[in-house]
Amino acid sequence: MASLFSKIRQAYALLRHVDIAQLERIANKVDLSAVMDSLGHLDDKQLAHLMKTLGGARHKKKVLPPIEGDFYHLGLALTAEERELQLRVRAVMETEIKPLINEHWLKAEFPFEIIPKLAALNICGGTYQGYGCPALSTTMEGIIAMEIARVDTSVCTFFGVQSGLSMGSIYLLGSEAQKQEWLPAMQRMEKIGAFGLTEPEVGSGVAAGLTMTATRSGDQWTLQGQKKWIGNATFADVIVIWARDTADDQVKGFLVRKGNPGFQVKKIEDKMALRIVQNGIITLTDCVVAESDRLPLANSYKDTAAVLRMTRAGVAWQAVGCARGAYESALRYTRERHQFGRPIASFQLIQNHLVEMLSNLTAMQTMVYRLSQLQQEGSITDEHASLAKVFCSLRTRDIVSKAREVMGGNGILLEHDVARFVADAEAIYSYEGTKEINTLIVGRAITGYSAFV
Ligand SMILES: Cc1cc2nc3c(=O)[nH]c(=O)nc-3n(C[C@H](O)[C@H](O)[C@H](O)COP(=O)(O)OP(=O)(O)OC[C@H]3O[C@@H](n4cnc5c(N)ncnc54)[C@H](O)[C@@H]3O)c2cc1C
Repeated sequence: MASLFSKIRQAYALLRHVDIAQLERIANKVDLSAVMDSLGHLDDKQLAHLMKTLGGARHKKKVLPPIEGDFYHLGLALTAEERELQLRVRAVMETEIKPLINEHWLKAEFPFEIIPKLAALNICGGTYQGYGCPALSTTMEGIIAMEIARVDTSVCTFFGVQSGLSMGSIYLLGSEAQKQEWLPAMQRMEKIGAFGLTEPEVGSGVAAGLTMTATRSGDQWTLQGQKKWIGNATFADVIVIWARDTADDQVKGFLVRKGNPGFQVKKIEDKMALRIVQNGIITLTDCVVAESDRLPLANSYKDTAAVLRMTRAGVAWQAVGCARGAYESALRYTRERHQFGRPIASFQLIQNHLVEMLSNLTAMQTMVYRLSQLQQEGSITDEHASLAKVFCSLRTRDIVSKAREVMGGNGILLEHDVARFVADAEAIYSYEGTKEINTLIVGRAITGYSAFV
């Protein structure tokens, strides 16, 4: 009996929502008594569901806020010209480069067709003056790194090695003739560079432990030894090689040209991160380099460190891009994915993850933004760059892991645009100074004690 009354109540509630004129029109087309008969056989739950569906159809589709990882609107602090460039980089990355990425990442191959696309943006050699470089602000250079990494961290790493590490070494420490020969062609990305510092047995300890040797004889140097992890090494036209001068024990920089008979490179296979980047093990055997190809302003490891100080800030921005890409993909997914009849974005625990991600992402962005201002003012120190690198790469690991978490099983599939960021964050975490090494740099600055050994 109670169930009958309940059904009548629900049927009444349903009819209250029905437009009678419309009902008459429908009656001309369908057998309403048969429909009513069917309704009479529905249980409470089915009726409630039907009402909800009918009611829902009358509401407009919910308008959701835009997906935006720049919560504090740092993009608005750019000039109109800079903002336009930022959006142009984003458009090329999203429409022309992104479609190539997953396939190449899986095959661990480099998509060479991206080089002219990046070159056409005229962003290479970002902040350098002259030599065809665009003389951007340091902030803009950082924003560009973020935009590239927001779509793919491998492409950003390739670009960072070209524009930052290799062009930067020549720009800061090269002779005028070396700059004239290499920088304009590298800016147009017609020539590609690499940067060889790390060795198979020496990573964090390169400052004092570099084992590759350089021995001078007249106007020539002979280099002997190995380098490991060198990005772009398999196809680079010029590799900046750091080696210890056997005469004065100081670290010096050399431009080793593609095709040098003393140069051999073997690709590092089976990486689980940055699979698009072609990292190589370089072997130099009686590798002869002309004195004119030695970087004249690189006279000790301090000069190498000046290049790393400049590029470490870029790696912090890169971490921001990686985190931002993962956050935005995760947010989009949570709005589209339904469980228990609702978008998972409407669940409190999911929102907790998203807000934690956004908090860290916003802290990272404001930090690198200020870091770039220090760089622009010329007051950046090693410890400034190291703190940003440590903080951003650590928080990125956390953000990508939460992004993967809110996607459930789909979080480990490349097609959902988070899994690749999870893997790539591991490389950012370790290169250009591990967490420990950058922590020790900051620790030394704030305590006055060096704790490296
Ligand atoms: C994908 C990728 C790309 C790279 N590209 C390049 C490139 O283009 N050119 C280049 O020259 N190099 C490149 N590198 C090398 C990179 O810079 C080194 O991996 C990094 O400096 C760490 O050195 P390592 O791997 O030899 O680790 P190690 O130095 O062997 O360190 C191992 C562990 O010991 C810790 N550790 C070391 N010393 C201390 C200490 N004093 N106190 C506490 N902990 C310590 C480290 O933090 C780390 O956790 C690349 C690396 C990767 C992974």
